[in-house]
Formats: sequence, structure tokens, C-alpha cells
Amino acid sequence: MLQTKAVTPFRLYDSMRRAKCAFEPLVPGKVGMYVCGPTTYAPAHIGHAYSAIAFDTVRRSLTFLGWDVTYVRNVTDIDDKIIKRAHETNQDPLAMSAHFAAEYNRDMARFNVMTPSIEPKVTTHIREVIAIVERLIANGHAYAVDGDVYYEVRKFPPYGKLSGQTIDELEDGARVEVDTRKKDPIDFALWKRAKPGEPSWDSPWGKGRPGWHIECSAMTVTHLGATFDIHAGGKDLIFPHHENEIAQSQGADGEGTFARYWLHNGFLNFAGEKMSKSLGNVFNCDQIAEAVGGEALRFFCVSHHYRSPVDFDVQVIDGAPRFFSLEAADRSLSGFYTTLQRIDQFVGDNTAGEGAVLPEAEKLVPDAKQALAEDFNAPEVVAAMHAAGKLANKLLDEGKGIDKQVRRRTLARLGKDLRAVGGAIGVLTQDPATYLRERRERLVKAKQIDVAAVEHKLGERKAARAEKNFTRADEIRRELAAMGVELLDTPAGTDWRIADAD
Ligand SMILES: [Zn+2]
Repeated sequence: MLQTKAVTPFRLYDSMRRAKCAFEPLVPGKVGMYVCGPTTYAPAHIGHAYSAIAFDTVRRSLTFLGWDVTYVRNVTDIDDKIIKRAHETNQDPLAMSAHFAAEYNRDMARFNVMTPSIEPKVTTHIREVIAIVERLIANGHAYAVDGDVYYEVRKFPPYGKLSGQTIDELEDGARVEVDTRKKDPIDFALWKRAKPGEPSWDSPWGKGRPGWHIECSAMTVTHLGATFDIHAGGKDLIFPHHENEIAQSQGADGEGTFARYWLHNGFLNFAGEKMSKSLGNVFNCDQIAEAVGGEALRFFCVSHHYRSPVDFDVQVIDGAPRFFSLEAADRSLSGFYTTLQRIDQFVGDNTAGEGAVLPEAEKLVPDAKQALAEDFNAPEVVAAMHAAGKLANKLLDEGKGIDKQVRRRTLARLGKDLRAVGGAIGVLTQDPATYLRERRERLVKAKQIDVAAVEHKLGERKAARAEKNFTRADEIRRELAAMGVELLDTPAGTDWRIADAD
């Protein structure tokens, strides 16, 4: 007999209903999710990462809640921006977009963004695009003019529902276009006739390429079916992109098809301003990962709710950006990794077997599930992790009055659950020693610490201690502290780290 896996029901904020609602799956136990991915014509920046992390957190949360998730994220590998950029830089558009798509995935991996289950590209879905455009023409939703094909917005009365506008309001807002080939200024392109020198494909309307919006309608129906569970993307995509996707897909497949729930994430703000090239606050993923490590950005993101706008504190000091928000996130993370390392050292290979643990240690997993099941409340999970970390450190520091085996088992349990719950939001996935070593290397570089001098002093201190010259050993500890170096005497010997500013 087939057994259904136990899944935790969840609620989510649906942008279409403008309310939180209970999720009802199309297929029991399964979630089909589509996320609009990048247009790959330049290196990915922090805004791209923020959106990718938000929905990767949703995906990981759903998996943690027991759901079987099919996660589709597309790559727009041909469009106006790509062609323009390729011409400006004298490159082949498709080779250039393939290069930036590979870089995008490398960058996202630094933020623990998982590879999608399916990652379709426009250029490998031309046939599917043509098929849907043909259907839209056949049923009167679209018309071809001189090799271009347009969607006739007035033929789809629900247009504007997602963004909360009516067709008449949109009509008033649309500028009067010189292009008289369109029946109406608000009609949009489904297929674009090729201009000389542009990549193009054969179609019933001559050589050309897809308009931007149609690809998502073609890819969703191909990989998730005409009706699927969740569609997600940045808030900036609601209009016109998602509005147009709905018009195309429901125009082709009928009312009630396409996405059943819509998720949109909030924006990063920089001192109240939006990110923009002119303000000089567009930071590339490379820059972030080098300055604070990728996981710090991940931790920063999951410390905020995916729908809230988030203030990002970065200041340019002496020509170099200081990512204060991320430095704070990195300090928190380092606290967690230090705790995990201490737990591992304490528990060792002996996991102390089965048996009771302190009841406070049993809360983390259920608390995390509850938080994630309520519109993916990752910040609440972070708060529960802080509480568990505090409990672990208390038990590590002091075991008075607690049964030795219970103490060991409780710490083992906290270590295991911190990793599991961390994984549900994409943090604490590294080996603590690796994270802490890399962090020290970054701080050594940033603060220009002379490692050879530190190690020399450590040797001196070891010798002083061997001679029981504790006055000298303490003096060296103070000298190192003055250099910004903190000593950690562990069962495995003396280690050191860069002291945190606060
Ligand atoms: Zn899309």
C-alpha cells in the first residue's frame, strides 16, 4: 500500500488574494514551484542574491516541513538587454549569456542557494514558445503584424488583477506610441521579428525571437503543467511581467489555470534609498563574498522576513565599502559555529546513545516548524536558534546538578538540531573549523594582523607556561589582546581568533 509521507500544513501570503491563506496542494505531499530567474547579461549583484536567497529559503523550508518540492527557476538567456550588451562589448550574445549564467550559479552557491530541480533556458524552449503563441493567435488573444506577434490585452478582461489596476487605468497611463502596428498601446510583444545581426529562430511569422514574458508561460506549462502550485519572484516583476504571464497562460489554457499562489519578496533598501547604479550602491556578489563570506549574506537575509523591506547598512569609508549589516551577521554566525565546535569537542564520538534529554532542548525543531509553517517566518527560526545556542553554551560552561549522560545527550541533540534547523533556512551548513578558519583569514587581511608575530608570541607563551612563568604568559595574552587577538585554551591546545569589536 502506498503510504503518504507526513507533511506539515502551512500558510502563505498570496499576493493575488492579498491575504495569508492555507496552502492546498494540487497533488498531496507535493509542491510545484516556479521562480523567475536572472537575465544573464552582467555579473550578479546583491539584489539578485537577495531574491534568490528568499525563495531558496522557501524551498528549503518546504522540504524541512516534509513536502516534496519541484523547484523550477529559469534563465533568460536571450533578450533585448543581452543583445544590447553583447553588441556594446563585441561579444556573441548567446556565448555571453551562457558565461554569466554559469557565473550566476557559482555566485548563488556561495550563499547556499541550491541548484534548482529544473533550470530551463529560453533558447532551448523556442518550440514551446511558438506553440503557445500559435494557440493564442488561434483563439483570438493575439495577432501577428509584419513578423511581430502581439498580445491583445483587451481580449483578457481580468488583466490587472494581480497588480490591482484596471485596463482603463493602464490605458490612461500608457504613453501614445508611434508604433501603429499595435491595435492598442497596452498590447505587448509575444514574438519579435529579427533585426539584422540578432540571434533568431524560424517561426510561422518568419525569423525572430520570443518577447520577454512568454518564456515563463512556456516553461511553466512544460515543466509543471498548465496549473501548478506556487509562482514566485521579486516585487518589481508584478507589473508588467507577472500580469502578462497570467494573461498569456490563461489566454491559452483558460480561466482558473496557471499559478495557484503568488509569492513576492521585498526589496533591500540602502539608507532609505533603492538600489541603483547612479547611487553607487550596486554591489556584486564577488565583493560581498570576499568581504564577509557568502554565508553572512545568507544569515542577514534569513534574519529578516522575505516580504518586509530591509534596510541594508553599508558605508563607503576611504573609498572601500564597509558592509556593517553583514559584519553583524557574520559575528552572529561565528557565535553559532563556535558553539557547534564546542559541542562537537565535548560530545566527541560518543553520542551517549538514546535516552532522555533536558526538555528545553526538545523545543527547537517543533518551534522552527511552527515558524516556517506560518508564511516562512525565518527570523523566528533564527530567534529559536539563538535560544538553543544559549542553552548549549550554558551546558558547556556548567554541568552542576545535571546527570552526566543527560548533559552529553542534550548537547548532542542541540548540535544535531541546530544543524538541521539551520539547514532549513540555508545556514550552518559548513564544518565549523572550516568556517572559523576562513573567517579568521578574512579578518586577518582586513585588520592587517601580522600572523607570524602572533604565532611567535604563542610560542613564547607556551614556553612561559611550560616553565610555570604565568606572569609572563598573562603578559603575552595582554600583548596579543592589544593587537586584537584573543586566545582560546581548548582541550586540543591553544587556538586564537580575531577579537570582535563589540
Ligand atoms: Zn517570469
